[in-house]
Amino acid sequence: MNYKNHRQKIQLVSLAISSLIFAVAAYGLFTNNDRLFIIGLIFIGFLVIGGILLAPLFGRFWCGWLCPRGVFLDRVLGPLSMNRRIPKILRTRGFKNMMLVAMTLLLGLSLLGYNPVLRSDNLLAQMGGFLVLMCIVSTILLAGPLGIIFKPRTWCSFCPMGYIQSLLAKKRLLRLHVDGCVECKLCQQDCPMELDVTDTSDNDDCFNCMKCVDACKRRSITPTISLTEKPTVSV
Ligand code: SF4
Ligand code: SF4
Ligand code: SF4
Repeated sequence: MNYKNHRQKIQLVSLAISSLIFAVAAYGLFTNNDRLFIIGLIFIGFLVIGGILLAPLFGRFWCGWLCPRGVFLDRVLGPLSMNRRIPKILRTRGFKNMMLVAMTLLLGLSLLGYNPVLRSDNLLAQMGGFLVLMCIVSTILLAGPLGIIFKPRTWCSFCPMGYIQSLLAKKRLLRLHVDGCVECKLCQQDCPMELDVTDTSDNDDCFNCMKCVDACKRRSITPTISLTEKPTVSV
């Protein structure tokens, strides 16, 4: 089975629907409209809850198949990217923790009314406006430039939302089983996160996007529903 076509269709539908809703919410930034901020909050809340609910079963499936920003990075930035290797420091636990703490602090400050850009008496609107603004700012300042200089999904190496999913994915059911590998590394070249499927030590970041499955000419990688956390590699 080739997953590429299925993934493309699902990603494009996700991007089309979410771009429309996000554009409405982002318009609230120019008009300071609480109702539009709340649309933004419901939308981003839906995305966050979707990712969190899927992670314990399917790992970061959300990131690989559905997340609108992930699709944007793949489809829009992908063709522009210089595709350099993702710097190791951005993949360290320390850096991921730092980003998670920074984002949580910013959200907390915004809710306490210290947000200099957005002011609203409605707490939900304040939160929605903040999240919409953060999505735009982090995409323009970080995800976009990093995706052009390095691999398109560089942001996803430390995105707080993706990191939370990785933490929840440790006991996931959907895993990749590797059998008969000749270590040609073709799959690693195609992996958006530069993961080595034969190294099970850090694959909680796996998107289950199945690009490696498509890339392996020997058909050595099989997606498997497994109740065991043990590595499923036999070479
Ligand atoms: S890591 Fe973040 S931005 Fe990237 S696909 Fe996942 S949730 Fe979306
Ligand atoms: S899993 Fe397949 S593509 Fe990946 S290193 Fe092994 S043989 Fe090569
Ligand atoms: S290891 Fe395979 S399924 Fe996981 S992110 Fe990389 S290419 Fe996608």
